[in-house]
Amino acid sequence: MVSRVIPVDPFDLVIFGGTGDLARRKILPGLFRRFQSGQMPQGCRVIGAARTELDEGGYRKFVSEALTEFVPEGKRDEETVRGFLDTLFYVSVDAKGEGGWKDLAGLMREGVIRAFYFSVAPALFGDIAERLHEHGITNRESRIVVEKPFGRDLESARALNAVLARHFDETQIYRIDHYLGKETVQNLMAVRFANILFEPLWNAQYIDHVQITVAETVGVGGRGSYYDKSGAMRDMVQNHMMQLLCLIAMEPPYKFDPDAVRDEKLKVIRALDAVPLDNIVRGQYVAGQDNPGYLEDVGNPASRTESYIAMKVQVSNWRWKGTPFYLRTGKRLRARTSEICVTFKEPPHSIFEQEEGWRENVLVIRLQPNEGMNLKVMIKEPGPGGMRLTEVPLDMSFADALGENGTDIPDAYERLIMDVIRGNQTLFMRGDEVEAAWAWTDPIIAAWEARGERPRPYDPGTSGPEDALMLLHRDGRRWREIRE
Ligand code: NAD
Repeated sequence: MVSRVIPVDPFDLVIFGGTGDLARRKILPGLFRRFQSGQMPQGCRVIGAARTELDEGGYRKFVSEALTEFVPEGKRDEETVRGFLDTLFYVSVDAKGEGGWKDLAGLMREGVIRAFYFSVAPALFGDIAERLHEHGITNRESRIVVEKPFGRDLESARALNAVLARHFDETQIYRIDHYLGKETVQNLMAVRFANILFEPLWNAQYIDHVQITVAETVGVGGRGSYYDKSGAMRDMVQNHMMQLLCLIAMEPPYKFDPDAVRDEKLKVIRALDAVPLDNIVRGQYVAGQDNPGYLEDVGNPASRTESYIAMKVQVSNWRWKGTPFYLRTGKRLRARTSEICVTFKEPPHSIFEQEEGWRENVLVIRLQPNEGMNLKVMIKEPGPGGMRLTEVPLDMSFADALGENGTDIPDAYERLIMDVIRGNQTLFMRGDEVEAAWAWTDPIIAAWEARGERPRPYDPGTSGPEDALMLLHRDGRRWREIRE
């Protein structure tokens, strides 16, 4: 199977923060891969814009080094790298001052798409939007891309939305959540809405519960001071996990159209019940043999920020009443894995005598590693000896099923940037979605802050605090094992 690459229209993409970590690790290597695939036609330009004083040659050298570091050797050749470097330009701008803005304005061309990636701290969004407007750099067709974190509570998210709305219409604003760019996440919609098989069963009558797990083996590393102000709830649950939950729980949109999809996701967020503290377990990793504990990592011995959270969430609508969604995410856990696990109910009546080994059907959607899906079904154990049942996986690893196309899955950033150029907002969060997510999150955080509880300690390399097991045990369920 050969996938078709459809070139986008010529564009100028300005990356504010073009010398930053995100640009170096994700945005520029992603653009390179799109260039290599033939998706960026002649005449596309990528313009780095940052405070760093550099000339064009210096920026091309910076990007060339980033490609060497972040694109595997076998996946790049000198000629293509040279071709990509030729698309690069650089302007030194100061978001907070006048420096560089006239130069940037002078670089802009008529007749091509103009996109602006705000890969800078959110505190600079307003200044950049203002300067772009003042210098006539943006027009009605321009798009802006903004990075997470989009606020740290409802109030700050509203303020950010208001700042952007001063100069941009909602149809021009692309709030990135890179989880939505993952192939499997989009496949979730394809599996649900392009097949008749699952949708009739996709409700509380047939689904026992859903688990969403995002486990990391790393600690907070160099992001300690940022992370300590955020924690797992703000860093992972409010955005990435909420988006996954929405895609699992939403009603079928009337068509695959940005607002139709986002309207349905918004309804899910609004249907989320408040979560009582009894349904939440927060944890902090302690020191292990080879690594310091969380408190040391963030340099704050009194920190009450969680590096782990598990919670039981209820979507209160006709489809889901009675089917809990269990979410958990954490750092320094046993394995690096992200997956959604949908456990169906047992058949209402067993015609087989065998009691032992009887299992529910389980659909596992793996986001990483090895993107793919796996459906556990019961079959007869082969051979004589009567009717004994056993569980087998119907396994669809994208790498196996799709050959080269399955292993060459574009990185989430690549896909999302091309969607910006194409003007497709389906996989980006709308302002009201973000605000609704914070409106649900804020009281939960306020409640645990008011109680002043310390997160439970957990050992690195485990599944998190013991108490998290209880969250499911008391409902007669258990977590899926965290493993790669
Ligand atoms: P960084 O600190 O590595 O880079 C910041 C960039 O902004 C640099 O290019 C710097 O020159 C530029 N800059 C700073 N002040 C400026 C000013 N006054 N005028 C013009 N340019 C200025 O940051 P980063 O890690 O690349 O993160 C950028 C944004 O992306 C942040 O909002 C961050 O939260 C978000 N983000 C980063 C990651 C990541 O993996 N690095 C992941 C998700 C989200």
